[in-house]
Amino acid sequence: MTFINSSHLSRRHLLQAGGAAALFGLGTGTRAAAQTAAKPPFPTTWTFGDVTVTKVVDMLDPFDAARAYPGAPLEAFDQNAAWLVPHFYDPGIKAILFSFHSYVVRTPRRTLVVDTCVGNDKDRKNLKSFNMRKGPYLENLRAAGVRPEDVDFVTCTHFHSDHTGWNTRLQDGRWVPTFPKAKYLFSRAEVDNVQSRVKAGGGDVISYNDSILPVLDSGQAVMVDGDAPVDDGVMIVASPGHTPGHQSVVINSKGRRAVLAGDILHNPIEVLYPEWICLFDQDKNDGIAGRKKFLDAHTDVDITVFAAHFGGPTAGHIVTDKTGKRMFKTA
Ligand SMILES: [Zn+2]
Repeated sequence: MTFINSSHLSRRHLLQAGGAAALFGLGTGTRAAAQTAAKPPFPTTWTFGDVTVTKVVDMLDPFDAARAYPGAPLEAFDQNAAWLVPHFYDPGIKAILFSFHSYVVRTPRRTLVVDTCVGNDKDRKNLKSFNMRKGPYLENLRAAGVRPEDVDFVTCTHFHSDHTGWNTRLQDGRWVPTFPKAKYLFSRAEVDNVQSRVKAGGGDVISYNDSILPVLDSGQAVMVDGDAPVDDGVMIVASPGHTPGHQSVVINSKGRRAVLAGDILHNPIEVLYPEWICLFDQDKNDGIAGRKKFLDAHTDVDITVFAAHFGGPTAGHIVTDKTGKRMFKTA
C-alpha cells in the first residue's frame, strides 16, 4: 500500500494557487453557556490499535435548534432528552450544543490534525461568536502534547469556516500556515466546489482568503482525489453530501475501527431523524442522502463514530435500541 508522504504528494498533487473562491459558515448561536469547555471526566484520547485520537477544543457554542432544523418537530429533542441532555441539547434555551474541536490522529510515526475549527483573529462580522477570537487553541494543542511544528499532515473534512480557521494564524499582519512543516491534504472536489461557488457569486470570500489561499500560496497544500491512505491504519475517504467535496478519516488498526465523520452529522438527533432538513448542508437533499448512507453503513457495527461537533463525551456508537429506534450511544 502506498501512503501519502510529503515528497510523493508534493511532486504529484501540489495545487496551483489562484482564483477567488468562497466558503460559508455557521450562523451565530446564542452566547449563553458558550465558553464553558467541558473538562474531563470525559476522555479526550481514544486508542484504536496503534492509532490514537485526541480531541483538542477550540470553542463551544449553542445554536438555535429551530433555525438549524427549519420545519422540524422540535419536541423530538425533549422526547429524546435521556440521551441528548445535557451534552448535545440545552432544553432551557432550545439550542443544540456545538463543540468546535480538532482531532489529532497519531500513528507510531505520523501526526495528523483533522479539522482546524474557527481560529483566532478572523474577520467574521456575520458570525458574531467567531469574530476576532482570541482563544487558547494552540495552548490546548500543546497541552495535548502537540507543537505545531510536529504536525505532519492537516486535513479539513470540508471548507466551511468552522473547519479551516486554524489552517492559518496571523503573523506580522500576514496569514501564514499554523503548521509550518505539514502537508495540508485538501479534497480536490472541495477546492473545486468553493471555487465554483465564488464564480457563481456565493460563499464566503473572506474565509477563503484568510484560511485557504495562504496555504495554497505556501506550497503546503496537496490535492486528494477520493480515497487516500495517510499511514498504517489511517485513511481519508470521500464522503460527499454535506458538501460535494466532504471527506472523512477512517481508522482501522489491529481490528479496532473508528470514523471521523466531519459534518455528515451535526447533532446526534440526526441519527434518529436523518431526513430533517439541516441549515448547514450546502445542498439539503445531498446532505440528507449522505447522512442516510452513512447511518446505513455504521449502525450496529463496532465502529466508533466521532462527529466534528459532538461535545461532552464526544465518541460513540450508532445503535438500534430495544424499540427499534436508532440512537447515538456515547462510549
Ligand atoms: Zn461544521
